[in-house]
Amino acid sequence: MPDKAYTHLLFDLDHTLWDFDRNASEVLTDMFAEFKMAAYGVASAQHFIDQFHLVNYRLWDQYNRGEIGKDTIRAERFKRVLANLGVDYREFSTDFGEYFLAHCPRKPHVLPYTIEVLDYLQGRYEMHILTNGFDTVQAIKMASAGIDGYFGEVVTSERSGHRKPSVEMFAFILDVTGAPKETSLMIGDNLETDILGARNAAIDQVYFNPNKASHQEAVTYEINSLKELMGFL
Ligand SMILES: [Mg+2]
Repeated sequence: MPDKAYTHLLFDLDHTLWDFDRNASEVLTDMFAEFKMAAYGVASAQHFIDQFHLVNYRLWDQYNRGEIGKDTIRAERFKRVLANLGVDYREFSTDFGEYFLAHCPRKPHVLPYTIEVLDYLQGRYEMHILTNGFDTVQAIKMASAGIDGYFGEVVTSERSGHRKPSVEMFAFILDVTGAPKETSLMIGDNLETDILGARNAAIDQVYFNPNKASHQEAVTYEINSLKELMGFL
């Protein structure tokens, strides 16, 4: 049982509920065929996918640190991926970035047990989304996955003008939801943005760590599967 009676759950979206890796990989596999990338010397769809995730992770890390903006992610992402693959971005008339943005958010896959857990939690807690993503994209993702009905507020960095892990981002969602920080719980997969961010804002945390990454941080709770939430909430 939890030490406290929580009232409000604040969920991260990407990699916590919405399965970004799986959804992105499906679109990238389609793109590999659509853009005939084998003809440009790209060894396999998997190689393309691996390069994408490498570049994307680095750009989002910079974004979370406030070093770059959304436009830079969108403009640079595929240029860098293709450069890493030795392909000249200018050879393609269709914009890779536009194709990806048009298709990826429409993919429906969620992490295992997402729906079961949300069904269980609904009615027991007020639930909201706190994400560093962008308004339109995150709304499409949630609708595509059929999870938009579970949440009251969806606070993005675009809407709040702040980014996790800033204390201001957490203050913003407490303000718009009326959630008391003492009985709120942040659930997310990113140790820095979600977990340390919540901790600095004096909010308890659930670190969702499906890959069992090792770390030294003191977290309120740690789970490897979303299903574990039903054991203590
Ligand atoms: Mg995340």
